[in-house]
Amino acid sequence: MGKLRVVLVSSEVAPFAKTGGLADVAGSLPLALESLGCEISVFLPYYRQVKDKDFGIKAAKKNMAVKSGNSDISFSLYVCKIKKVGFYFIEKDEYFDREFLYGTAKGDYPDNAVRFSFFTRAVLESIVALGLNPDVIHCNDWQSALVPFYMRHRLQDFGSINNARMLFTIHNMAYQGLFPKEIMPHIDIGDEFFTPETLEFYEKLSFMKSGIIYSDAVSTVSKGYAKEILTKEYGCGLDGMLAVRRDDLYGIVNGVNYSNWSPAADKFIKVNYDNKNLSGKIKCKKDLMSQLKIKSSADAPLLGVVSRLAEQKGIDIIVHSVPEIIKMGCSLVVLGLGDEKYHKLLIGLSKKYPKNIAVKIGFDNPLAHKIEAGCDMFLMPSRYEPCGLNQLYSLKYGTIPVVRATGGLDDTIIDYYSDRTNGNGFKFMRADTGDFLDGLKRAVSVYKNKKKWQQLILKAMKCDFSWENSAKEYIKLYKIMKSKNRRFS
Ligand code: ADP
Repeated sequence: MGKLRVVLVSSEVAPFAKTGGLADVAGSLPLALESLGCEISVFLPYYRQVKDKDFGIKAAKKNMAVKSGNSDISFSLYVCKIKKVGFYFIEKDEYFDREFLYGTAKGDYPDNAVRFSFFTRAVLESIVALGLNPDVIHCNDWQSALVPFYMRHRLQDFGSINNARMLFTIHNMAYQGLFPKEIMPHIDIGDEFFTPETLEFYEKLSFMKSGIIYSDAVSTVSKGYAKEILTKEYGCGLDGMLAVRRDDLYGIVNGVNYSNWSPAADKFIKVNYDNKNLSGKIKCKKDLMSQLKIKSSADAPLLGVVSRLAEQKGIDIIVHSVPEIIKMGCSLVVLGLGDEKYHKLLIGLSKKYPKNIAVKIGFDNPLAHKIEAGCDMFLMPSRYEPCGLNQLYSLKYGTIPVVRATGGLDDTIIDYYSDRTNGNGFKFMRADTGDFLDGLKRAVSVYKNKKKWQQLILKAMKCDFSWENSAKEYIKLYKIMKSKNRRFS
């Protein structure tokens, strides 16, 4: 049998462009698939932030066009290779030469429907033009969810790759790509697709529904979340639709790229360390404290947060817990970007408690690494968490996760109090200040026992969430899809 040919489509891919976990996944899964023998190409927009850095990207094809109504929208295709993986960039400055990927702190860009509908059609055009002939096209989140729709309904343009199976991976149910109906003629979708059985969702056009309905299989990023999204509480209104696809719904947990996220190899931290010699960890802590001007004793617990500042992440729970956190003798560092209301609240707290609380508003990858290495505990009181990557990174750095038992957090963290042999962190049940503080108090009481804490650190550092296992699961799924008939023939 020849190599499995896979095309992965994502609106963000690390190291090129990143706002969250999707980029990490789309950057590292392809490399893992390649080392397991797949032939893989990845597509993303050519954003300003990609152009501004030197990745060695070269022109691949000029004079490409997406047919839209009676006119053609031109674009160019660029490429760079990492190992044998081709990363392809759709260049259309009108849409992608902007300061941010999706919008500013004030809100989304108003033309996101047009931008990402164009992106998906340009990807399909490019797959045809490059003769990639994929076995599977693997789309991710709403930004690439229209690929299966256009593939099915634009056979005159994309029929030559119609044999490809479609996988749609949901990284977050809450971001569905909902737009006013009026946008439909501008993105080449006829009125007949504005029905509850097709793309309509409570009087809006839903990009995500295209991914769920028209793909051969749907997956999400942990087994726990795959079950949760079938419930009303987590399904964000699409639980009924997902139930229809239950037999084609899979959960595959994300992996970690340990060449980027491991204290033994990390380029950004003050001193490297590993589980045989932890002395570097305290040096990283002191370095972080001095960089962020935290004035507490180096013996006191230092808590870290690196997060999109959104309701999902339970930032309000942390904010309201701060007086108690201070009473418990802890200090806190927060790195994040997101809703302006959280920016203000957090900055207010750092002014009120300047010795114990440091807040950095912004996206800062080197600082994210320093927080992973320098903190004692990592806080994730998420309301829901499809997979969560930071708790997995934290484990590797011996920074003990304190998490809410939900989705991928529940799947990957074993509570120390429930299982002293295998415990690798602390879990609490409800997304409220009381439960969160109880969890944190349990963590702090173990922290005070140096020997037990050290054992816990070593246990956490030994956990292995490398991509190889998850990539093998994806390959298994791609093969299942290939062995079945296409959903729409
Ligand atoms: P999500 O994808 O929901 O935002 P994940 O935990 O899956 O959450 O992944 C978040 C990723 O984004 C991690 O790699 C984390 O380090 C990174 N990240 C989030 N916010 C920031 C920030 N402000 N600066 C640097 N990295 C960040």
